Amino acid sequence: MSIQSKYICSECGKEFEITPKLMVCPICSQKQKDNKPLRGILEVKYSADDLFDIEELIPLEHSWIPDLPVGFTPLWKAEYLDDGHSQLYLKDDTGNLTGSFKDRASILVAAFAKKHGIKEIVLASTGNAGSSMAGIAAACGLKATIFLPKTAPRAKMVQALQYGANVISVDGNYDMAFDLSLEYSQKHKLLSRNTAYNPLTIEGKKSVAIELYKQIGDAPDYVFVPVGDGVILSGVYKGFKDLLQFGFIKKMPIVVAVQAEGSPAIHDALKSGQFTKCSADTVADSIAVDVPRCGFYALKQLQKFNGQSVLVSDEEILMAQKELSEKAGLFAEPAASASYAGYKKMKKAIDKDASVVLLITGTGLKDIDSATKKIVFPKTSIKSIKEI
Ligand SMILES: *Cc1c(COP(=O)(O)O)cnc(C)c1O
Repeated sequence: MSIQSKYICSECGKEFEITPKLMVCPICSQKQKDNKPLRGILEVKYSADDLFDIEELIPLEHSWIPDLPVGFTPLWKAEYLDDGHSQLYLKDDTGNLTGSFKDRASILVAAFAKKHGIKEIVLASTGNAGSSMAGIAAACGLKATIFLPKTAPRAKMVQALQYGANVISVDGNYDMAFDLSLEYSQKHKLLSRNTAYNPLTIEGKKSVAIELYKQIGDAPDYVFVPVGDGVILSGVYKGFKDLLQFGFIKKMPIVVAVQAEGSPAIHDALKSGQFTKCSADTVADSIAVDVPRCGFYALKQLQKFNGQSVLVSDEEILMAQKELSEKAGLFAEPAASASYAGYKKMKKAIDKDASVVLLITGTGLKDIDSATKKIVFPKTSIKSIKEI
């Protein structure tokens, strides 16, 4: 094969062979401090002499990728959505196999496990990553063990159990689940899919950038991304960086990190240059994080490529969720609706002719409790239409 892939440390630049045992840079990870984003995140680096199709840029042979309905999601314009930009696109990831963007990472991790004869994958999750890995593992004949905080949204836990995953409920927060899952995967020599920690999570999520390039014919001018741990954001950047490296595009898009006011770690770090631990509290559970695991890496990309960030309130998120449903027929979960909320806040500052993409990262059916805050149920039930 003419394409070579290696891991390269995003901090010290040291290169490593890609193996299932290696997750973070053995040198830089020694500097890891409690309550800080992960140190020593590894990036996949490619070299190729004859590249015909950008989709060849994956760190294993294509034949390992299971044939599942993941990615290749629709990009569409919603005619009745309040926009102001004729080129406003929704990148609709609600239709992935398990209903969220997380499937893009899970499918690559599952392929990697199959290639290396690994039978079980372990991860900590606040909900979507767990239910995603559970579903993809089920479809690939693999076992998934998921550490979920006991406060995880019920539908996401039900989904993981329905797929037959081994769900371990943790009496603590996501950070505790993260640590326990690592301890477990190391003790039993199992593959971890913890987000940001496993380099293939960033690499898997980059597929969205490749698709956008194919669907638009170029990089869009703006991409709005809902941000929690910052792995989707990092994946978006990684994909466009690969496209740039191999000459498919000439310039990077402006990526806008949208965060909830109650979970602003990466936005704050972009303003202040450092990470301070917060106690996340927002209706958008999928972007609620105290410590963004991919924080250092995500911040570096935002700084390097003139990225921007914006905060949105829970009220703005819920309004955006309702509007997406009512005017585009797209029922997205609160975290996914944050993209649209962020766009609405920033649209005046964006050139009228710009192409703008909103990443819609998960379906609203996974969290109906949040959606019920903006709807009114019928007060009575009728037996005859005369009662209406
Ligand atoms: C995980 C998730 C996000 C945020 O992704 P990060 O990589 O944690 O920043 C956004 N929306 C949905 C629906 C998610 O599940």
